[in-house]
Formats: sequence, C-alpha cells, structure tokens
Amino acid sequence: MKILSVASEAFPLVKTGGLADVVGALPDALAPHGVATTTLLPGYPALGPHVKGARTVHRWPDLLGVEARLLKAGIGDHPLLVLDAPQLFAREGPIYTDRGGKDWPDNWRRFAALGRAAADLASGTVPGHGFDLLHAHDWQAAMAPAYLRFAPGPGPVARTVVTVHNLAFQGSFDASVFRELALPDAAFALDGVEFYGGVGFLKAGLEAADAITTVSPTYAEEIRSPEFGMGLEGLIQARGARVHGIVNGIDPLVWNPEADPALPSPYSVRSIRRRTPNKRAVEKMFGLDQDDGPLFTVVSRLTWQKGMDVLGWCLDDLVALGGRLALLGAGDAGLEAAFRDAAARHPGRIGVRIGYDEGLSHLLQGGADAILIPSRFEPCGLTQLYGLRYGCVPVVARTGGLADTVIDANEAALAAGVATGIVHDGVSYEGLVRALRRTVTLYADPDRWCRLQKNGMATDVGWTRSGARYADLYRKVLAQ
Ligand code: ADP
Repeated sequence: MKILSVASEAFPLVKTGGLADVVGALPDALAPHGVATTTLLPGYPALGPHVKGARTVHRWPDLLGVEARLLKAGIGDHPLLVLDAPQLFAREGPIYTDRGGKDWPDNWRRFAALGRAAADLASGTVPGHGFDLLHAHDWQAAMAPAYLRFAPGPGPVARTVVTVHNLAFQGSFDASVFRELALPDAAFALDGVEFYGGVGFLKAGLEAADAITTVSPTYAEEIRSPEFGMGLEGLIQARGARVHGIVNGIDPLVWNPEADPALPSPYSVRSIRRRTPNKRAVEKMFGLDQDDGPLFTVVSRLTWQKGMDVLGWCLDDLVALGGRLALLGAGDAGLEAAFRDAAARHPGRIGVRIGYDEGLSHLLQGGADAILIPSRFEPCGLTQLYGLRYGCVPVVARTGGLADTVIDANEAALAAGVATGIVHDGVSYEGLVRALRRTVTLYADPDRWCRLQKNGMATDVGWTRSGARYADLYRKVLAQ
C-alpha cells in the first residue's frame, strides 16, 4: 500500500509541536503493516541540508501563481518529497509567522499550493508517482482532498484520510481568496470550501475526506460538542462513523531514557534511582534548591489552551506545598512575563527558561519528578507520554488524549496497582491546587510513588497499536 503523507512539519526536519513528532514517526510505525509512506513537506530553509543534491522530479511553471518544483530526498529510511517554491517557503524564522509572530498574509496561498501539489501527486499528474491513499495532516494539508474532489489530475485518484491534530487551528480565510485557488465555482459551497461565508481549509478537507481521524478517542467524542468543535461540530456529527480516534504514539528510539544523549545519567525501569543525577542537573540549570519535595516540570507552549494562566495562579501554592518548578516554554508574552515574575518572587523554588530547546526538554523529562499538563483541551498530548516513558509522573487534566493515556492514582487504581499519574477534573484554581496537593502527598510515600513511576514506564506508549489501527483504517478506506 502506497501512502502520501502530507504535512507542514515533520521531526527531525522542522517542528513547532506534536504534529511534527507524529508525521515524523508514522513511516516507521506503518512499515511493519505493509504500508510504504512517502512524506511531502514544504521547502523551508531548514530543509536545505536534506535536499542538497536532491533530484528534481517535477516542475510547475504556475502552481497557484508561483513557480515550483518537486525534489526527491529521504527522511530516515523513507522517501521524502519537498515542494520547493522559494516565493512561498524560502523565509527564515518561524514557519507560519513573521518574526513578530504575525501570520504570513499569504498563508492561504502557501498551503493551498501544498494541497494542490499533493493532489497532483495523488491523481497522476506527476509521472512515476502514484499513491493509493493521501493522508493529510491538519489545515495546512487539508486542501489536498478538496482539490482531488473538485479538480483532480488525469490519473487514478487516491483515497483520502484527514487527521485533525488540533481543531483550534482551522485555516480560515476571507472569501476573496477563493478565486485564487483555481477551483471550479461549484467548490464554493456548503459541501465544499465555503465556511461561514469565507474559505475554510480544514473544513474543506473534512468535508472531502473518505475518513477523518483525530488523535485520541476522547477528543473524537469531544469535538462533536460546540465547546470543543469550534464551529465544526455540526460537520463532525454529520460525518458520524467516518470519524475515528487513534491515539498518538511516541518514537521509542528518540525518547529512550536508557540511551538518551541529553541525560547525564541514563536509566531504565530497573534503575530508576539513576534519575537522581539528572535531577541535580535540572536543579543546577534552573537555579533551584535541593530538597526532599517534588520537582515539577512544564514543557509546553505557554497558551490559554494549555491552561498556563491557571497554573500561573497556583504557583504560590505549589511553593507553599514544598514543591519546586522548572519550566521550559514559550508563547503568549503575558504568560511568559508572569512565569518570569514568579521565578523572581520564588528564587530557588521556581526556575524558568523561555524558549524552545529540544535537548532540555529531554533532560526535564529525565530529571523532574512530575510533569504538569493542565490543558483546557488536548487532542492527544505527547508530553504526558514522554513523562510516562521517563518515569516523570504526569499530572494532567481529564480531557482528550490526556484522559485516554493516564490512569489516575485513585484508591481503586492504586490498590489494583495500575495507576500511572494524577488526573484532575476541569481546569480551575481549586482543581489544580487539589491535584498538586495529591501529588505532594503521593510523593511523600516513596513506595507508592515508585510504583507510579514503574507503571508509567511499563506502559506501551509506542506506535505498535496505533500503527496497526492506521493501517487497518487505510485498508477499510481502500476497500470502500
Ligand atoms: P502541542 O502540539 O499542542 O504543542 P503536544 O504535547 O502534542 O502539544 O506536543 C508538544 C511537543 O513540543 C512535544 O514534543 C514537546 O516536548 C515539545 N515542546 C513544547 N514546548 C517546547 C519547548 N519550549 N522546548 C522544547 N520542546 C517543546
């Protein structure tokens, strides 16, 4: 089975969030199930070293108004196609915004072009390249199924799956962009790209796809409601049985505490005590005291979605309970300032690094005792999975993938020996402080705490099950 996986990011080439980790891991996850995956990415400057000497396999003199070509390279052991369109993608800095954080005004053209190129590949326009199924990730790739539906190429048309990694990002644009998309007029309709009077890329993809997936069963349910559906709940409900929840896995080679180059002291489930030097390294790096209380960490975008404002309100309590916090994150300027202020207020107790640092994120998982993830909504979440694998106990809100992957340490789960973390309801000051208090209490009981860590580390958070589920879904879609 030949799959074209289309996305705007893929680890380790270009990453702003969990999407990249998933797209990067899928080819290996699918290979054991007889699925050969080719990944298509935009030609950002970061991809330069990977496409040096790459062969040009196709040229578009006019791809939605710009010149473009397709380069063939590799990602791991798998084929990589890169859409080289310098007018659209040769921009230094962040990939979706200018350096000031403002969305590029031509994002619609950039990602419509990605969708058009993908559709060409999946419908016989590019000689020598044929695919059974096109798998589009998020709004940036979601126009591909719409192009296949309304303006396919001359060859056989691939089936389509669209995966929603986060419904909060929809790629909604003014209606005026429609005439630049090179679609027939009929596409500007309720069952096409039209969305509340404008153009909706994700909406268009969800409407056209043969199947829709999102990244956890709970989130697949939640997005049927107005609270989580963000205007798309009606469509999601209407597509009913075609919507599936498949939880993300993590790459067990990239996230392996036994052989992680970012850890001064590698360890396994049999040698959890060897985490201590990592903890010392975190304390040193973040200027924190050494003591017997739990060391919490946060590795996150600092945004409202992630509940970071609520965490900000609880920091004095966290310190009063005897906890310490090492936070790594970047995002809203107001939240960044609030965490910096908290660190200044609590020297030795709260340390903050504003920025993005992949290596440090590994050290924090390998050194901290617990990772805080108080998200208001969380389609899947990856940091709790890394936490499980690294014995860094997840303290999470009961939503989306967090609810599906962490087993709360309630009395029944503790007695049955299956608990892997602390799960709290809703995201409120009271709820989070209660969760912090429960965590501190559990931490004070070394046997129970160690059991939690071991259970987490023994949890299967790899791709085995989910890789099989994607392959099954592809087969079902192809058989339809
Ligand atoms: P989202 O994609 O919504 O941001 P996920 O939990 O699915 O949330 O994925 C976030 C990914 O980005 C994880 O791999 C996490 O480790 C990483 N990450 C987030 N913030 C940072 C940061 N400041 N530095 C390093 N890695 C980060």
